[in-house]
Amino acid sequence: MAKEYETVIGLEVHVELATKTKIFCSCSTEFGGAPNTHTCPVCTGMPGSLPVLNKQVVEYAAAVGLATNCTITQYCKFDRKNYFYPDNPQNYQISQLYLPICRDGKVEIETEAGTKNIGIHEIHMEEDAGKLVHDEWEDVSVVDYNRSGVPLIEIVSEPDMRSADEVIAYLEKLRMIVQYLGASDCKLNEGSMRADVNLSVREVGAKEFGTRTEMKNLNSFKAIARAIEGERERQIDLLEAGEKVIQETRRWDDTKGESYPMRSKEDAQDYRYFPEPDLVPIVISDEWLKEIKDRQPELQTEKMIRYKEEYDIPEYDAKIITGHKKLADIFEATTKLCNKPKKVSNWLMVETMRLLKENDMEPEDITFSPKNLATLIELTEAGTINSSVAKEVFEEVFKKDIDPNQYVEEKGLKTVNDEGALRATIEQVMKENPQSVEDYRNGKEKAIGFLVGQTMKAMKGKANPGMVNKILKELL
Ligand SMILES: [Zn+2]
Repeated sequence: MAKEYETVIGLEVHVELATKTKIFCSCSTEFGGAPNTHTCPVCTGMPGSLPVLNKQVVEYAAAVGLATNCTITQYCKFDRKNYFYPDNPQNYQISQLYLPICRDGKVEIETEAGTKNIGIHEIHMEEDAGKLVHDEWEDVSVVDYNRSGVPLIEIVSEPDMRSADEVIAYLEKLRMIVQYLGASDCKLNEGSMRADVNLSVREVGAKEFGTRTEMKNLNSFKAIARAIEGERERQIDLLEAGEKVIQETRRWDDTKGESYPMRSKEDAQDYRYFPEPDLVPIVISDEWLKEIKDRQPELQTEKMIRYKEEYDIPEYDAKIITGHKKLADIFEATTKLCNKPKKVSNWLMVETMRLLKENDMEPEDITFSPKNLATLIELTEAGTINSSVAKEVFEEVFKKDIDPNQYVEEKGLKTVNDEGALRATIEQVMKENPQSVEDYRNGKEKAIGFLVGQTMKAMKGKANPGMVNKILKELL
């Protein structure tokens, strides 16, 4: 009988915090910028320069910890992680090992299999490294230190996940929490959220964990899901062949659908961690912690309950909309402008979701403004445009954030309510389709649908469908 295997997955998620300045100096954290322009002696590791901790980093880290049910370490410290790499000018990274700021948290995830808690081992603060750019044409490697010293938190989960579905649900949950807190924009494609996957397999029922590998270079949820499937298969094949899984870091190549070994996985002792001598310990007083707690914004669950009560929208809609901060922000701003919560919710739930899926986009990528969606809703409600024209206009709003008023005017899309014009068109359609007219008169009521369709076509979709139906029935 074939053996059955269980996949055991733990995640290390790095999140770049949305502070204006770096963790230990006052350089800008802005993404992009000409190479090495957001730098100073501190973040380029010049001898004699001293780090000064950015208070906002501690507050964001604690806020994420509170929202993920962690215990906050009120006396915590930084440690030095020593290693040499050209993107790391100090030859060490300031991180936390012995007393990380948050410990023992959990988040609840939901998959098709139901709800489950995923434990959070710890969250620690650290600085990001610079970026190496390998230029194959010039045959040189250059380094950009703009990212060096950008604040990060690393969220380390327990090995509680068993499938790609659970991993994605966990990442989506973390992203939602961090975005609600305003602690980061969590863009996987810009690297402001990065996930390393630790994965091992074991026979179902086994008590011991198998040997794990770590996979890096995963910059989309889809790549993560594929990497998990690929690595699970690779490890099972090794075990089935009587071979051993080697503990190592592997790079996932998403286009080839294969992973390659990068280096053998190091342990903490390889880094010769020791307490950072240039920074004093951080003491988070009860008062400070209370201030941070009091400042926590409304999170998803509270928002969902409020939406149902305040806006009277179905629970299903409220859940999906509050599931993404961006959607919730658009929903609230648009509703404020047009005061039609159910209509706003419909546009978000149906057309917006459809276009996001078709264009392989995330809600974070939405660029249309609440103002233009509100205008579109008002035009529809006033009967200025009909629903099929509204869908066409919305596609333009979604793509280019156009002003619906101007667009409808320019393209001549206003609904034709002119009874004379409608009547003339309908008479023409009836003349051209005598069979349908006869069918209807002989009791085939469905035939009217075809005639309505032909009339709408003749009017280029701009006729008022209610009036077309009414006039058709009179004439028939
Ligand atoms: Zn600096």
